[in-house]
Amino acid sequence: SKSERKFTRAVLKLSGEALREEGSKDNISPEIVERMAREIRDAVKTGLELAVVVGGGNFWRGASASARGMDRATADYVGMMATVMNSLALQSALEEEDVPCVVQSAIEMKNVAEPYIRRKAERHLSQGRVVIFAAGTGSPFFSTDTTSALRANEMDADVIFKATQVDGVYDSDPKKNPDAKRYDRVSFIDCLTKQLKVMDATAFSLCLENEMPIVIFDVGVEGNITRALSGEDIGTYVCR
Ligand code: UDP
Repeated sequence: SKSERKFTRAVLKLSGEALREEGSKDNISPEIVERMAREIRDAVKTGLELAVVVGGGNFWRGASASARGMDRATADYVGMMATVMNSLALQSALEEEDVPCVVQSAIEMKNVAEPYIRRKAERHLSQGRVVIFAAGTGSPFFSTDTTSALRANEMDADVIFKATQVDGVYDSDPKKNPDAKRYDRVSFIDCLTKQLKVMDATAFSLCLENEMPIVIFDVGVEGNITRALSGEDIGTYVCR
């Protein structure tokens, strides 16, 4: 139903890959970041309190580097640095759209971002500033999906919007099975029993335990960030 998806405070998870233009050698496309900033601007002008968690996969993934021989923890710190670059790019684009916004980094980097301080972040949100959470959780062996689940709970948000390259959760892989069916709404329990892939296990379990709903939607379609954040029925709504 429509009313089911009206939220006052939300976390938007943007994968790093979403900031890259397909086929480009640039890790960040300023045009794409600009488009996202405009879409976020349109969504927050109605009063939605929004925090954004940005990934770093357009630059680096710790697990991949580790599979190729690098020490995992160090590789993960490199990945967290990548999320800081993406966060600064998004902040700049949001400011260009006159959206008040701050970056808080889980790894202290005080010349470019505020340190992550939960109560300060909450205050920024309640005063209408977009807060971008950079450097993930600040700990290796975690992901930015897990960061979004953690921060959403810390901020007492109503929902996580996970922007991905697919338009929701399917009962089987839509790339392999042409008859794959997309869910409009699916429960946490069904995700578990049917082994539907929503987020990594750590992130999913944080959402499940705290009944934090997740909207999975396709960020590749122009306007979808605004649509999702405004509560339109797009993608898949994962909830209890
Ligand atoms: N990372 C980490 N701890 C965190 C969040 C991220 O170590 O709390 C590292 C990890 O190496 C990860 C990389 O940062 O591969 C980039 O984040 P992620 O893969 O989640 O980005 P996305 O796939 O969303 O672009």
